[in-house]
Amino acid sequence: MHDKSISELAAGLRAREFSSVELTRHYLQRIARYDGRLNSYITVCEERALEQAAAADRALAAGDAVSLTGIPLAQKDIFCTDGVKTSCGSRMLDNFIAPYDAGVVERCDAAGMVMLGKTNMDEFAMGSSNETSWYGPVRNPWDTDAVPGGSSGGSAAAVAACLAPVATGTDTGGSIRQPAALCGITGIKPTYGRVSRWGMIAFASSLDQGGVMARSAEDAALLLKVIAGFDERDSTSADRDVPDYSAALNRDLAGLRIGLPREYFTDGLDTGVARVIEEAISEYRKMGAEVREISLPNTELAVPTYYVIAPAECSSNLSRFDGVRFGYRCSDPADLEDLYKRSRGEGFGAEVKRRIMVGTYALSAGYYDAYYLKAQQLRRLIRDDFARAFEEVDVIMGPTSPTVAFNLGEKSDDPVAMYLSDIYTIAVNLAGLPGISVPAGFVSGRPVGLQIIGNYFAEERLLNVAYRFQQATDWHRRIPEEFRG
Ligand code: GLN
Repeated sequence: MHDKSISELAAGLRAREFSSVELTRHYLQRIARYDGRLNSYITVCEERALEQAAAADRALAAGDAVSLTGIPLAQKDIFCTDGVKTSCGSRMLDNFIAPYDAGVVERCDAAGMVMLGKTNMDEFAMGSSNETSWYGPVRNPWDTDAVPGGSSGGSAAAVAACLAPVATGTDTGGSIRQPAALCGITGIKPTYGRVSRWGMIAFASSLDQGGVMARSAEDAALLLKVIAGFDERDSTSADRDVPDYSAALNRDLAGLRIGLPREYFTDGLDTGVARVIEEAISEYRKMGAEVREISLPNTELAVPTYYVIAPAECSSNLSRFDGVRFGYRCSDPADLEDLYKRSRGEGFGAEVKRRIMVGTYALSAGYYDAYYLKAQQLRRLIRDDFARAFEEVDVIMGPTSPTVAFNLGEKSDDPVAMYLSDIYTIAVNLAGLPGISVPAGFVSGRPVGLQIIGNYFAEERLLNVAYRFQQATDWHRRIPEEFRG
C-alpha cells in the first residue's frame, strides 16, 4: 500500500479495499520496522492514531468523509499538538506537552486525517542537515551515511522511506525545499501568509511558513488544500480564497515562460547537479515552454541578509524560553538570574545559542542601523529583483540545492559552509514567494531537486508545472531499495 499516492489511498478507503485502521497499522508497522535506521520520528502516536483511524472509518461508513478522511500523515514537531509532546527538536521543550493544536493540525484533524506522529527536525528549525536536533540526526533513506537536509529532515526522510504517505514541514530559509530535494520527494513552501502560523513554534516570524512534503505534486495539492487558508489568530495570515489545487494540475504548459537566473548557474553549483537541472529544463522545452535567461542581481546578498534577519527575530522569539513558564528548568537555581542563565544554557544547543547571540548583537543599540536596518534594505532589493523577473517570466527554475546530500558530520563544524547550502532557497523566503522542489534525477545515487519559484499566491501554477514534469518523468516514483518491501 505504501507505494500508492494519497489519492489512490483515498479511493481505496472509499471502495472499502482496506480500512483506515488497516492503513494506519501498516504505516505504524513500517515505522517500527525501519525507523531505528532513520530516526525520522521523535514521537509515534500509536494509540491516538488508531483512535483517529477508527473515527475515520466510522465517517467513511456514514458517508460523511471528505477528500483525505482516513489518510495518515506525519506532523513536523514544530506544530503544537494538544496532549502530545511538541519538542521543536530541542531539549528546552523535551518536557512540553502542548495545551492546544496548531491551526495546521486543527485543519488536518477536521479533514479526518490520522496523525502517525511528530517528526524529527533541527533544533527550533535552525539547520540544513538535521544534525542540530537534541534527538540525534536523521539519516537519508537513499544513503544512510548522508544527511536528509533540514530543518524538516524527519518529515522528508519519513515520506521518502514511506514511513508516512505525506507530511507537514516548515520553511524559513529552505527547510521544506532543501530536505525534499536531498531526499528525492516533492516539497512546497507556499506564499508567506498562505498557511497559518498559529501554534507553529516561531523561529523568524517574518520568514516562517508551513507547507507540504509529499511524494508527488498531486499529493501535495491535496494536502495543501487542507492546510491553507485564513486564520484570524495569525496576524499575517492572508484572507483570500484557497483554490482547488488539484483541478488545475494538468493544464497545458505550451507558451509557459521559464526564467533561469544566471546567478544560480555559477561556480558554486556542482556539475552533476547542473547537468540534471539542464535535462529537466529540456523536458519543459519539449512541452512547449519558452526558456530564457534572467538575472537576479542581488542573489549573493541573500545569505548574509538572512543571517542578520533570522537570528534577530529568533533572539526575540526565543526569549520566552526562560525556565519559568514552560520547558526546561535547571535544577537547584541559586537565584532568578542563575535560573535564567542555566535553564537557557542547558536547554539550548550550540547552533541556537549562536543565533541568539548574533541576533541580540544585531539588534543592540548602536548596531541596529548598521545590521538590522541594512538587512531590511537589502531584503527590499532582493524582493525587487523577483518583481522585475516576474514581469518577464511566469516561473523561475534552478537547482534547489547546490549539491546532493552531504555526509553526516561533513559540515557540522563549519556553520558558514552549512549556511551556503541554502543559497538558492533563502531569497524566496526574504521575498515571501512560493517555491516547490521536485525530484529531477540522481548524482552518485543521491537525489537532485529542481526548484520552481512562482509569483505571490501562484501555488496553483507551481503545482501544475511540477505535475506536468511528473507526468513525463518517474523520478518521484522511486523508492530507496532498503525501504521498498
Ligand atoms: N537552513 C536555514 C537555517 O538554518 C533554514 C532553516 C529553515 O528554513 N527553517 O536557518
